[in-house]
Amino acid sequence: MKTSSGISVLFIVILFLCYSCQPAKESTDSIPPALLEDAYAKYKAPEIDNRRYGYEVIAPLIAGRKEIFETTVLGESVEGRPINALTYGEGTRKVLLWSQMHGNESTATMALFDLFNFLEGSADDGFESIRSALRENLLLRFIPMLNPDGAEKFVRRNAQQIDLNRDAVRQSTPEGFVLKTARDDFEPEFGFNLHDQNRYYNVEGTALPATISFLAPAYNEDREVNAVRSRAMKVIAGMDQLLQQVIPGQVGKYDDSFEPRAFGDNIQKWGTSTILIESGAYSGDREKQYIRQLNFMILLNALYEIATGSFDQYTEEAYHAIPENDSKLMDLLIKNVETTAVDKKYLTDIGIKSSEVFLDSVLVLEGSIADWGDLSVYYGHEEIEAKGMTLEKGEIWPEVIPLEQLDSAKVLQMLKEGYLAVATEMQYQGQVHQFPILIFTEGNAPNMHPDLDDTPLFYLSAKGKKNIAIINGHVVHLEKENNSIFSGLIK
Ligand SMILES: [Zn+2]
Repeated sequence: MKTSSGISVLFIVILFLCYSCQPAKESTDSIPPALLEDAYAKYKAPEIDNRRYGYEVIAPLIAGRKEIFETTVLGESVEGRPINALTYGEGTRKVLLWSQMHGNESTATMALFDLFNFLEGSADDGFESIRSALRENLLLRFIPMLNPDGAEKFVRRNAQQIDLNRDAVRQSTPEGFVLKTARDDFEPEFGFNLHDQNRYYNVEGTALPATISFLAPAYNEDREVNAVRSRAMKVIAGMDQLLQQVIPGQVGKYDDSFEPRAFGDNIQKWGTSTILIESGAYSGDREKQYIRQLNFMILLNALYEIATGSFDQYTEEAYHAIPENDSKLMDLLIKNVETTAVDKKYLTDIGIKSSEVFLDSVLVLEGSIADWGDLSVYYGHEEIEAKGMTLEKGEIWPEVIPLEQLDSAKVLQMLKEGYLAVATEMQYQGQVHQFPILIFTEGNAPNMHPDLDDTPLFYLSAKGKKNIAIINGHVVHLEKENNSIFSGLIK
């Protein structure tokens, strides 16, 4: 009796342990960052290597997919470009992912093509258990480029000049109509709304850029949290936990004011747990190729956690604890430089922002003076502490020089002698050059005493010696022989 009862207790205990350990193991399932990095390295799509590309670049990558994907055309853009969807999986939990609603926000699109390669990977690559979890539990539908007309020109809006993200209700754009219809036809449980944000977002109270920002959008003015929104918050908390291991402190959360015209807010309202991902800036990654990798990692891990149900291990509190986005970054912040106005000396900070111009796929930066005065609440992607330094104006080289007669040594000599700009012949206008000096053609001479919004063009000197030249927002150290070459546009 005693023995028999002991055995049954033991049996029950074992049964209980198995029962409790099995779901517990499942509920903490997530993919280690190192494994995600390996998967990215193996499956990154080599056909895309910079963030400016149009539909013609992705069309062959969609047409050439293996049969595990069902490829459909959901509709056409204003200018007649196809809007494609790719569907993958045999499961019942439906997830819709749409990218590049804004034509110049292409980072996540690249990651989706990396993800497609991963999903097509061979069964012996070491990732099959991840793939089978996705395949067996999920039905995934991807819309990689919702706004191909905007992508073609690398602009935000569609060919009607409408911001698709304000067209969720009215649907006066064919692209907005496609997305709304795709959601209604598919009725996904989860939705991923993939965007880029400008590079001036920082994580509140820090100089760190918000490399990735999240939002579980509100579905009403009161910003209430129902089960739909709560699930989105938990998935985001899982993505944040992953990112904190690879880019600690560089994740922000958007303000959740309800925007009644936006897709994220409405799709949440229509019953799909919606997750907004915004790709921001990362130091030294203007082309956003590392941020593309981060997108691949968080998307794959989030899909895995949705597939296994392990996203439920996270809490709404973890979501709320993600710090807010702020917008306090400049590209270059020069602090405490002495300057003169009407013969009066004063100390100032100078904030410079650089807009991005693509000439074919070459990225050219055009700096402008965004602000000056007390900028102590701002941060710079690059900062110069200029205490003890004086702002000194430069000159224009007195002769017109044909472009082919310039070389690095000559340009450096010009900079050292006090010349920050040089004129060249008209035929070179609009070309890209790689000299650390401002080059212009007749009639386009820069203001050598730059004001707000002008091209930043001046020296920082200490004890009468010119140490640094600021040329179109680029920093050139004059004591260095080999300054890094940058691309400039001949005006
Ligand atoms: Zn956007």
